[in-house]
Amino acid sequence: MRLYDTLTRGLVELPAPPGSIRIYVCGSTVYQRVHVGNSRPFVLGMWLRSWLKETGYDVTLVHNITDVDDKVYAEAARQGIPSRELSERATGWFFEDTDDLGLGRPDVEPRATETIPEIIEFIQELVERDAAYAANGDVYFRVARFPEYGRLSGAKLEEMVAQEESPIKEDQRDFALWKGQKSHEDAAWESPWGLGRPGWHIECSAMAEKHLGETFEIHGGGNDLRFPHHENELAQSRSLGHEFAKIWMHNGMLELDEAKMSKSLGNVVTLREVLDDWGRETLLVFHLTAFWSKPIDFDDAVMSQAAARAESFREVFRNPHEPAPAGAWERFAAALEDDFSTPAALAVMHEWHDHDLLRRALGIFGLESLAAEEEAPPEVVTLAERRQSARANRNFDEADRLRAEIEAAGWEARDDANGFRLVRRQLTSR
Ligand SMILES: [Zn+2]
Repeated sequence: MRLYDTLTRGLVELPAPPGSIRIYVCGSTVYQRVHVGNSRPFVLGMWLRSWLKETGYDVTLVHNITDVDDKVYAEAARQGIPSRELSERATGWFFEDTDDLGLGRPDVEPRATETIPEIIEFIQELVERDAAYAANGDVYFRVARFPEYGRLSGAKLEEMVAQEESPIKEDQRDFALWKGQKSHEDAAWESPWGLGRPGWHIECSAMAEKHLGETFEIHGGGNDLRFPHHENELAQSRSLGHEFAKIWMHNGMLELDEAKMSKSLGNVVTLREVLDDWGRETLLVFHLTAFWSKPIDFDDAVMSQAAARAESFREVFRNPHEPAPAGAWERFAAALEDDFSTPAALAVMHEWHDHDLLRRALGIFGLESLAAEEEAPPEVVTLAERRQSARANRNFDEADRLRAEIEAAGWEARDDANGFRLVRRQLTSR
């Protein structure tokens, strides 16, 4: 299995299975219902775990939750509620919405606020090694002490200087590990530097190492996290002599074209709304259509296409099974082994009329439900039986009326050798 690594700008081969693969994915900051774009790293992490397990690895997936952040304080203040109450509630929404993707849960979902002792210990070690310094209740990482700084993201010196300028920093590139409590912040933790809270970047170094160790195989997250977030995680961990992640996987961003959307909701389309409007199967098929490291356009037209693809898989199971030619599974596997190309794997799956193989492949992506037998409710079955006898009696007007009634109930009666078969009608949008 080969995966593209941002740090070395090339494909990296995983050691052959069996063995353990440890994955850390940067999760969401919880202060509102998450954006549909946040589903991409979540889905990618869950699918990667599923495929690696399928091929014989022992996989641990950690997906963190950032529950202390400027955005949490600001939104809580706007609503006039305690920030901890807001982040608790928003963590609940995150679980609810990602549960509804139907992919199960990551192995560990640590929260920043549960990791405060480890974070403080990490910062203390950096201070002891002179890689960090305390100033006015804050603690800053000394970027000049880490010569490889900028290698992961390719960030230029000017971009680094633009990060949170402050007169108390020794060097404007330095970034905060610990932030002393500000007057508008209603939650703070005790530390050797006084009351405060961790910086965002140190949270992830501490959570990743707490649950996966000083070295792990894969670090994922959105492409927007390369700089400064991941550059800073790498600098913190490597400054303690830890190897940290071996492969950095950055997923492309989900790009929303509001002009092409029927509902315009400002600049936010939440995962919740997409699940309610389109259903989980269509959303998952949508994610399958794009190569993970490339951007993906999100609008009504691409979602309709994804719905049609999902329907074409259901259609395979309504038709007779035809065994796939030898080597069919190997072609599917080869697509995933080559930098986890889900579009290439999807193209192979669309060639199949082999129920067993297709069910197995769909299962890897949490889509086994597309292979499930559809059972129409009894009242629809009764309508279909009445339609059948109307046809037998050549009462075609009555048969047409009943067909319309069946369709209005969301079903379609198809004539077959045994009489009729009821098939759920395709939904292009719900
Ligand atoms: Zn992170």
